[in-house]
Amino acid sequence: MRNNCVFCAIMDGEIPSQKVYEDEKFIIIKDINPKAKLHYLCIPKNHYKLLEQMTEEDLDNIRYIFKKIPELKKELGLENGYRIIINQGDDAIQTVFHLHIHLLGGEKLPV
Ligand code: AMP
Ligand code: ZN
Repeated sequence: MRNNCVFCAIMDGEIPSQKVYEDEKFIIIKDINPKAKLHYLCIPKNHYKLLEQMTEEDLDNIRYIFKKIPELKKELGLENGYRIIINQGDDAIQTVFHLHIHLLGGEKLPV
């Protein structure tokens, strides 16, 4: 398993996932343990744990993903709104150390 990482394994097809979108820069899968009616993970193809470890080029990929998310919201069922979360490190209880963007929606979500 590359980088000893479950998301790299998903990218490499070693672990099954419910993939709903893919392009050259990232994939979107359904979270295996959803915390909202709709819970997606946007996963950049390059493996980094934290934003602050990324190269300028990979940060450009994050910008690209943030531009893509609104374009995809309708087909993801998120047209009524959604929450974006990135858990960074221990206090955020990051459990998969491959940076990913959570999208939560499909219902009203109290803070
Ligand atoms: P985080 O706490 O931000 O690191 O969140 C990791 C997320 O990945 C959690 O919401 C898990 O439910 C989810 N997750 C872990 N393994 C898988 C998997 N194999 N397929 C889909 N989602 C996963
Ligand atoms: Zn990885």
